[in-house]
Amino acid sequence: MNIALIAHDRKKGDLVRFVTAYLPVFEKHSLFATGTTGKRIQEATGLKVHRFQSGPLGGDQEIGAMIAKNEMDLVIFFRDPLTAQPHEPDITALMRLCDVYNVPLATNMGTAEVLIRGLASGAMDWRHLLQGKRLEGLLDKEKGNGKRDGT
Ligand code: PGA
Repeated sequence: MNIALIAHDRKKGDLVRFVTAYLPVFEKHSLFATGTTGKRIQEATGLKVHRFQSGPLGGDQEIGAMIAKNEMDLVIFFRDPLTAQPHEPDITALMRLCDVYNVPLATNMGTAEVLIRGLASGAMDWRHLLQGKRLEGLLDKEKGNGKRDGT
């Protein structure tokens, strides 16, 4: 599964501790993160993390683009509800896309625990069905394009 990890500055320590606590689960999956969050996780755990731009510089939108293509299976986003963020519209857009595509989203550690335990016990295997459908869709599209091209 593809997992996105994002934490606002005052929540980064919590996310690093969370990933460390569930290392045996996280190491079985592909991890994606906004710039600074990803760096902190990599340094603390040694896990391989694909890092996008920092959140305020477009990282949330890059993760959003993966969600829109159904390429993201789970989002863990430790938001700081007590500090104004300059990229608030991007944050709202990211959460909106999770709802559009039914991507499980945890915005705090309580929910994240439930999701990660669910992930570990196979409760999210339904995402594989979606990925299969996506693949079928792409293949159908390719076939259709082939016909239109006469190839
Ligand atoms: P960062 O971005 O991981 O680069 O700090 C997250 C954010 O603050 O939105």
